[in-house]
Amino acid sequence: MADEIDPEITLDPENWQALAKLGDDVLEDMFDYLENVRERKVWHDIPENIKQCFNESPPMKPLSSKEVYERVKHEILPYPPGNIHPRFWGWVNGTGTPFGLISELIIAAMNANTGGREHIANYVERQLVSWMREIFEFPANSSGLVTSGCSIANLIGITVARNQALDFDVRKKGIMAIKKPMILYGTSQMHSSIQKAMEILGLGSDSIHLIECDENASISIDNLRAQIKQDIEANLQPFVVVGNVGTVNSGTIDDILALRKICDEFNLWLHLDGAFGALLQLSSNKYKIKGIELADSLAFDFHKWMHVNYDAGFVLIRDDKLHRDTFTLRPSYLASMERGLAGGGYWFSEYGLQLSRGFRSLKVWMTIKRFGFDIFGRLIDQNIRQARYFADIIEKQDNIELVAKVNMNIVCFRYNPGEIDEEELELINKKILYAMYDRGIVAPSYTRIFGKYCLRIAITNHRSRLSDLDILLNELNEIIELLQ
Ligand SMILES: *Cc1c(COP(=O)(O)O)cnc(C)c1O
Repeated sequence: MADEIDPEITLDPENWQALAKLGDDVLEDMFDYLENVRERKVWHDIPENIKQCFNESPPMKPLSSKEVYERVKHEILPYPPGNIHPRFWGWVNGTGTPFGLISELIIAAMNANTGGREHIANYVERQLVSWMREIFEFPANSSGLVTSGCSIANLIGITVARNQALDFDVRKKGIMAIKKPMILYGTSQMHSSIQKAMEILGLGSDSIHLIECDENASISIDNLRAQIKQDIEANLQPFVVVGNVGTVNSGTIDDILALRKICDEFNLWLHLDGAFGALLQLSSNKYKIKGIELADSLAFDFHKWMHVNYDAGFVLIRDDKLHRDTFTLRPSYLASMERGLAGGGYWFSEYGLQLSRGFRSLKVWMTIKRFGFDIFGRLIDQNIRQARYFADIIEKQDNIELVAKVNMNIVCFRYNPGEIDEEELELINKKILYAMYDRGIVAPSYTRIFGKYCLRIAITNHRSRLSDLDILLNELNEIIELLQ
């Protein structure tokens, strides 16, 4: 009996038209989903039966495309995290754009792997690098890389900083060969991704020396200088200063010019974390960040204040060679040919950890081409005005206080009727926040600044209007009333 030969199989549809029709329907649904987002709650609890839908055993058999979409429609789409909503101001999240749907479609169709070789995606990313160079006034021999976000961009910047600071090849010898602890400087307001970077790099979080802040929560330059001197005397090796360009807590910007001077004085790397704040560079002149062009490395996000759909960040490195030396590794199966498919001299896999990389640069490029840089600057100005507006109205109210100076787009505030202690204030403000989330009308987040627990809005939202902030105040007051 002859062996039966399995027919050849594929993941392509049998009926392309039917799939295209489903695609049309989905696209229409998704535009409706976004167009009507204002009518829905910002957030609501996921019902138990829905959570149970994600407790299945591994499916071995297929569903139809339509069946899968039906499940998405009922079990996934109704429960988003909220950041597409005009009244979401938690953490620091971008809104995304409806036009972004179109770029995601094209990215999926091309399915380009952008680690290297000669194809158009690399030219798109190089275009972005040159735009970013121009916007942040970096030199012609600077390099850049699209990343998943600012966490990875920070990691890349600090890795280059570490490697160039050592007088031996740390890639080869490893961190065991480091003779003196390598010290990173920044403030308590630094983002957690900096600590993660130090941990991953094997330098350890103890090697982060936190410098006191001044009254505006920005780094105290005198304390920084004193600490560096003390560390050098103690036979440690200072290597990098991290400047904040917009802290998560309060949007504080460190004095970059002063940091540059200190870094020059002690021969240190200046890394800037500008996740959302760096984009102030697009705003009207009065918000431009002095000295941002002097950084050795600059990390920021496209998915926050530029509303590119998640996820996309970027790192700019002043010196292409140092950047490439940190990550390049070209075994024979990855060597470039002179021309043809394996050509293209510039391989982005030499500038970061990833070899296989999706076509993130396309959605960034398309967003920028569609809207132009100017409008992002205007939207940033608008969010800053909205934050100021909200701060002004709550300042007028006796039982609400501002907890930090309002920088940029962030307002930290809390209910404080007076005559109760910190512990009770925290309890009451948490109750207010729970009530807000339960009601689903507005979504601020929370933080603790210099020991004070507070509610916090960070407006990086192109859908928000002043009237939405009136609704926030209204919610706050209604909830306070209900808690009495
Ligand atoms: C959001 C943020 C990060 C981390 O960026 P991701 O894109 O979330 O990885 C780092 N620093 C600051 C100041 C941030 O706001």
